[in-house]
Amino acid sequence: MSRNAESTAFRSALEVIRAVEPRVADAIGAELADQRESLKLIASENYASPATLLTMGNWFSDKYAEGTVGRRFYAGCQNVDTVEALAAEHAKELFGASHAYVQPHSGIDANLVAFWAVLADRVESPALKKAQVRQVNDLTEADWFALRRELGNQRMLGMSLDAGGHLTHGFRPNISGKMFDQRSYGTDPATGLIDYDRVAEAAREFKPLILVAGYSAYPRKVNFRIMREIADSVGATFMVDMAHFAGLVAGKVFTGDFDPVPHAHIVTTTTHKSLRGPRGGMVLCGPELADQVDRGCPMVLGGPLPHVMAAKAVALAEARRPDFADYAQRIVDNAQALAEGLLRRGTTLVTGGTDNHLVLLDVSGHGLTGRQAEQALLDSGIVTNRNAVPQDRNGAWYTSGIRIGTPALTTRGLGTAEMDATAELIHTVLSQTTPGANADGTPSKAKYVLDPAVADSVAKQATDLLAGFPLYPTVTLD
Ligand SMILES: *Cc1c(COP(=O)(O)O)cnc(C)c1O
Repeated sequence: MSRNAESTAFRSALEVIRAVEPRVADAIGAELADQRESLKLIASENYASPATLLTMGNWFSDKYAEGTVGRRFYAGCQNVDTVEALAAEHAKELFGASHAYVQPHSGIDANLVAFWAVLADRVESPALKKAQVRQVNDLTEADWFALRRELGNQRMLGMSLDAGGHLTHGFRPNISGKMFDQRSYGTDPATGLIDYDRVAEAAREFKPLILVAGYSAYPRKVNFRIMREIADSVGATFMVDMAHFAGLVAGKVFTGDFDPVPHAHIVTTTTHKSLRGPRGGMVLCGPELADQVDRGCPMVLGGPLPHVMAAKAVALAEARRPDFADYAQRIVDNAQALAEGLLRRGTTLVTGGTDNHLVLLDVSGHGLTGRQAEQALLDSGIVTNRNAVPQDRNGAWYTSGIRIGTPALTTRGLGTAEMDATAELIHTVLSQTTPGANADGTPSKAKYVLDPAVADSVAKQATDLLAGFPLYPTVTLD
């Protein structure tokens, strides 16, 4: 393939779009320019390959394909079958799973599919049995009430939000918090680490139907072998949501006790975070849950997105190449270099470091809220997000933390030396920013003061740092 092919493809696409709605073409071009210029440290983001991106813009988007491979509710799905089967095959090979369901449109959707599959599999409900064998018309009104009562009062134990858990693991802003009677386990206040004895204790007391592991802001490995033992000891189904760290599992950085796939009954993930694929979700499981999982559409999902399933197949094929393992290792090396650089300059890190792709800064030592720090960093060309820290005194909106991650910058090619330079830039901003005051003189949790000259100088240094690592080097739009 010529180096020019990628440029030509994107340029031609923009030309076609521009003829219809030039403002959309402009926005797409502007997005590339913005992404090229900013130091992207959002732990959940990445840069998908040109092949993955290009796979999404075609006539697969026009197909309805409810059902599963070979068993569709619509005719003419043979090509969708091909790409869905390919994506599933790559996923099974990559993760060593016996079943893969690649239809979920996002991570949240993958979790809904998993929750429903576990409920349908585990809950003893005569009414549900009737419904499953398609005798829905035989269900009396009393059956329906029984079904709602039986399914609606199940228990879930997951990681607490402020310890790094995800809101889809039974928290109020998500429907899982309304579907399940939820309790959560936190981390040890002294070390910031998961205390497995406490998890076991909570499981014994609460007896959950589902024990969930997985996080979006915990900077350490989780021992899934121990978690499975805890689940088994109380008869719970063990589910792992590896949305954030799937790339580290795919790249064999997390193996043995730290690889969720051999230990969990069911694993969910996104495909667009460290895995570096298209925006979407996926469920992996053993044969016991496979049939229930495959009912995801139309049970909780709308029609599958064939163009995205095709892109999943492409991205998963990329992740099976040897160089992906090298990429995954560099993500962690970079996160550790960034953590060391920050620690050396006096920043407090939750758990004192990292062994995955993310670092959680506690900025209260700088006298700032997460919100103030996030905005000051953004003014300085550094894109991060604020995040609660354990026992956060500023709540989930203002927070006391900043979450940063290395999957995106590692894709660009930045290495450990650049991570130290990045730590210096972050430290400069945090130490030069002071909290602002409200109009009445009281301290503000949102306002801050940062000399624009400092912000400009940091932004310029960030741009210089990135100049050596062009994003999508094969793509020029003009
Ligand atoms: C990001 C994330 C999700 C949600 O993924 P979406 O694709 O945004 O729906 C679910 N669980 C965890 C742990 C995540 O980090």
